[in-house]
Amino acid sequence: MRVGYPDLIGSDRGRDILLGHLPAACRHGLAFCRAIYHTTPAGGVVPITGGLDAGLPDIAVRPDLDTLTPIPWEPGVAWCLGDTTDPVTGAPCPESPRDMLRSVLARYAEHDLRPVVGPELEYFLCEQAPGTATGWRRSSEVSGAVYTTGLRADPGNHLLRTMRQLHDLGVGVVSGNHEFDGGQFEINLTHSEALNAADRAFLFKAAVKELARKEGKLATFMAKPFNDAGGSGFHVHFSCENVRGENTFGDPAAPFGLSDTARHAVAGMLAHAPALAALLNPTVNSYKRFGPGTLAPWLVDWGLDNRSAMVRVPPERGSGARMELRLGDAGANPYLAVAAIAAAALLGIQEAKEPPPPLEGYGYDPERSPVLPMSLTAALDALEADEALTDVLGKEFTASFLTYKRDEAERFERHVTDWEFAEYSYHL
Ligand code: GLU
Ligand code: MG
Ligand code: MG
Repeated sequence: MRVGYPDLIGSDRGRDILLGHLPAACRHGLAFCRAIYHTTPAGGVVPITGGLDAGLPDIAVRPDLDTLTPIPWEPGVAWCLGDTTDPVTGAPCPESPRDMLRSVLARYAEHDLRPVVGPELEYFLCEQAPGTATGWRRSSEVSGAVYTTGLRADPGNHLLRTMRQLHDLGVGVVSGNHEFDGGQFEINLTHSEALNAADRAFLFKAAVKELARKEGKLATFMAKPFNDAGGSGFHVHFSCENVRGENTFGDPAAPFGLSDTARHAVAGMLAHAPALAALLNPTVNSYKRFGPGTLAPWLVDWGLDNRSAMVRVPPERGSGARMELRLGDAGANPYLAVAAIAAAALLGIQEAKEPPPPLEGYGYDPERSPVLPMSLTAALDALEADEALTDVLGKEFTASFLTYKRDEAERFERHVTDWEFAEYSYHL
């Protein structure tokens, strides 16, 4: 059995155990080094409190058997998610993304509300390209008019083969399509209660990457991997149920057919958008996806069935009333993204905030709406300054996240890129 869990950046960590060890793992947890929350992909250790300074202590990972699912491509093996806890007290580890999301959802319960989330993720499939700078190229470099073209743009039938495996893994696939750029795909997952949806989005990303690796390919969810292609979004469909399981977002008598709760939730997302970017657009690369005319957002705005807006309200009402937040990129940690969106919506609901009038027509007019942060550092500054949001996300969690991400932004600032050599070396 594989016991996996997300680290801070949403990458899947885990340990494989033999079934005979499962009862002990459930009783005591599996010991890991807490440094998994402190190490960077490049192998550095970020000075987060409770890590290096504490002598790299253990965390105990407790399997959550409710998440158990067979791995279709490894017969006889199951995958299950785990929760990281303090080995002595059993309390959740302060950096645990799953627990951070749980703590935000607990606040909704106080209002008799339950967030419902439907994740949509885009990614690029790449093939090995020996001799090139990165060693990878898009699996297809056709450009233009490949959106939803099925087999014509995907002769290897990557999409159907992947969707079949994902279905058998139980991540709740609704549909998939070829995206706007060659080698880019989108797969939509069913909507469900927010923690379950984040679990499935996390498993989905790990599974797509693993399936590609098995074929010697690379599936990447990074925000903007190529200069000559658009970015990959993580669109999050969001609504709230009441205790009877009814959608609270539709109201035929209210403005735009959206209930007070729904309009307040939109207003909360707009009010906290700069800070949200830190969690939904968490890499230095994320900010290269934003821009006018990209179908990714650039401005803080909302619109009725308007894909040029940051928050799009799809046309369905009644039980299908919801909003689609288009801000996130696919590189975001699904737990942190969903938690941040839910936190911002909750603040809007608690303060009964009203959104400005919705965008009319094609957006991307900076005279009309504020521009999003355009760098990771600007977004981290906005998160740090957003007292209300960091209060809901948890001060300890936010401090660790900021330390981790500021280290990343600073490492990038100091790094000499190939663009600089190309731009300056000859003429200067
Ligand atoms: N790829 C776009 C993004 O980065 C979204 C395109 C679409 O609407 O599907 O968000
Ligand atoms: Mg799409
Ligand atoms: Mg969408």
